[in-house]
Amino acid sequence: MDFETFRRHGRGRHDYARDWKKRTGGKVVGTFCTYVPEEILAAGGVLPVRILGSHEPADDAEPYVFGMFCPFSRDCISQAIRGRYDYLDGTVLAQTCLHIRNTFWSWQKVNPGRFHYYMCFPIKVQSPRAVDYATGEMRAFRAAFEKWLGRPLADAQIRDAIRVCDENRALLEEIYGLRKDPHPPLTGREAMEMVLAGQLMDKREHNQLLRQALAALRTRRLERDPGVRLMIVGSEDDDTEFIGTTEELGCTIVVDEHCTGTRYFLNRTPDDPDPMRALARRYVGKPPCPSRDWDARTRTDRTLQLARDYNVQGALLVQQKFCDPHELDIPAIKSTLERNGIPTLFLEFDVTIPFGQFRTRIEAFLEMIRAEALF
Ligand code: SF4
Repeated sequence: MDFETFRRHGRGRHDYARDWKKRTGGKVVGTFCTYVPEEILAAGGVLPVRILGSHEPADDAEPYVFGMFCPFSRDCISQAIRGRYDYLDGTVLAQTCLHIRNTFWSWQKVNPGRFHYYMCFPIKVQSPRAVDYATGEMRAFRAAFEKWLGRPLADAQIRDAIRVCDENRALLEEIYGLRKDPHPPLTGREAMEMVLAGQLMDKREHNQLLRQALAALRTRRLERDPGVRLMIVGSEDDDTEFIGTTEELGCTIVVDEHCTGTRYFLNRTPDDPDPMRALARRYVGKPPCPSRDWDARTRTDRTLQLARDYNVQGALLVQQKFCDPHELDIPAIKSTLERNGIPTLFLEFDVTIPFGQFRTRIEAFLEMIRAEALF
């Protein structure tokens, strides 16, 4: 198994999507946010592609979104302006924070005349009415999508797509579980590349790669000292360079709590005679992002549980600059982890940040953890 395969798919995401269109004749739809039910798109033979950062300067985004919008939002719209996603036949957003919502409206101005769907989704996922509400919105999305496709979807097609997506989640969870080992068989960078590739590729093809990876990982031993066991917590984060360079400083990122990692795949679709309700239950019940966790703040306990399960020694709390939902969550997460003996380091991300700005602080953080481990 060549673990570089996932990296190649991530880096060559646009080539993969264009090639997929050519070989299947299918349509490709971009998704903003992990709450878009990919299963409905896949059931219609459409490839869902998560819109992720490019980490290039995004100065051209200024006429479309405010300068104080998060760097990820600005990065997205900048890529649209440059035509990086010109192969997309449409985009779907499931209601989320203000910044990405405005980005979605601007995206439509840059890419008019395609299928653009704004899916309402409960912000308060803890509400007893959330599943009913989300079920109705799943049905509305399905109807709009069917109209655009020009044909109805059978429930059996949706159930099949649910099965494939759940297999993907189960495989990722099993691979993540191997990172609990004192000597994890894969680095944090490799793990992130695996999850990212799954959000860009046909799930059936990704599942096949994951099955091969899982078999290889059972006997794989990395010729590196894992060093300090770290967790990464925070906003949208697809910066594999950051993870890789951090790990070169003498640590391993053994688990994450962000929407390009565990928040994307932890939890499965429950059995339900109505596939729309099954999807609503899965998406309402998935690990929430902070923009849906307002008063419940369930992320705090979930993050602590993950830290314990993976035996982490410290946590990097990463926030996209100007991201209010995460900024509101971080104080509670920070104090909960620290009260439980897990030191934290807060880092603020912009679209492009030379790693040098972080290096000294991360080195000092690792040094402190190593020193504490001696006592
Ligand atoms: S990083 Fe924060 S502000 Fe930006 S899209 Fe995500 S939740 Fe919204």
